[in-house]
Amino acid sequence: MDCPNANQFDALAPEIGRVLISRKEIRARLEALAAEIIRDYAGRQELIVLAVLTGSLLFVADLIRRLPLRMRLEMVRASSYPGKATRAGALRLDLPDSLNLSGRDVLILDDILDSGQTLAALRDWVRSQAPSNVRTCVLLNKSRPDLPDRMSADYWGFEIGPEFVVGYGLDYGDLYRNLPDVCLLNPRVRGERPS
Ligand code: 5GP
Ligand code: MG
Repeated sequence: MDCPNANQFDALAPEIGRVLISRKEIRARLEALAAEIIRDYAGRQELIVLAVLTGSLLFVADLIRRLPLRMRLEMVRASSYPGKATRAGALRLDLPDSLNLSGRDVLILDDILDSGQTLAALRDWVRSQAPSNVRTCVLLNKSRPDLPDRMSADYWGFEIGPEFVVGYGLDYGDLYRNLPDVCLLNPRVRGERPS
């Protein structure tokens, strides 16, 4: 889909830093990622895609339309950054209780792997439902050398540094999700001194 140009988001410009991953790079990477997933799931009967809301919304929408597999889409709401906190706070998972994952192939899609707390908790919950198989896929794999034992995702779009990013679904205080690119936030917005 075509999006407005970055300069049409002028109203947000003072709050946004530079573009870290452009919409063009995202599009190209999604093609490759989809090809990898299609190859791995070829011949499987039916896939359950479990999307972690809200941050994965754009990623999920763009990825699943590139996956010509028989699938059902389910959603789970997770929040680990309540309000404007940018360090993981208490994790909240709102799990659907009518979901039957027993014997199913489950692919969890999330926006970003940071501490891994969210994805590990969700993956453990899915495993407790006796699926046939569970894999995880994130758009962004954040580098966390301080957490050597962090879980790893089975698939990811991009590796990024430890910086805080917004756009393409990712928010700060529920804003900026509609930016078509993954961007750095102007440090002033987070009340930090610009580096
Ligand atoms: P984790 O549980 O892996 O520490 O954090 C995962 C969640 O934290 C993500 O799903 C996302 O909502 C949020 N998060 C982690 N890093 C960032 C970031 O750089 N930017 C934004 N907007 N959210 C992040
Ligand atoms: Mg999230």
